[in-house]
Amino acid sequence: MEQRQQPVPIAPAPLHVRRPDPPVEQRRPKRVTAKAACSACREHKTKCTAERPRCAECVKLSMSCVYDTAESETPAQAVKRKYNTQQTQLSAYEDLFSMLVSSPEPVSLDILRRMRQGGDVHAVLHDVRDGDLLLRLAHPPERS
Ligand SMILES: [Zn+2]
Ligand SMILES: [Zn+2]
Repeated sequence: MEQRQQPVPIAPAPLHVRRPDPPVEQRRPKRVTAKAACSACREHKTKCTAERPRCAECVKLSMSCVYDTAESETPAQAVKRKYNTQQTQLSAYEDLFSMLVSSPEPVSLDILRRMRQGGDVHAVLHDVRDGDLLLRLAHPPERS
């Protein structure tokens, strides 16, 4: 038998519809910063504990623990940093090369001499750019 439902009285709409507050702490997935493995662990494909200065694996095997990444760095940042360093180094070598090629021979020889003395490419470039080299070639120091 069918019972007629009593119509439910509709309450007047509230002036301000209160939305439920969003949960205060949205549980967002915790961002796991991928800790870069040390060189040895990467090479041997072992799980690196990424401890500094030495990871557990390296301590266990008494190997030296070397990280490519700085402590606060993500692997991507490390790659970028290395790339930038290499670019700087590369352009320094290019400059040095073109100086060797385009300088007058005595200057080239002096640059070469500096390189053979083990001068860092940037140091050699700096000296050459300073004109220090050219100046001293023009006025060679008296030999003693
Ligand atoms: Zn390791
Ligand atoms: Zn290690």
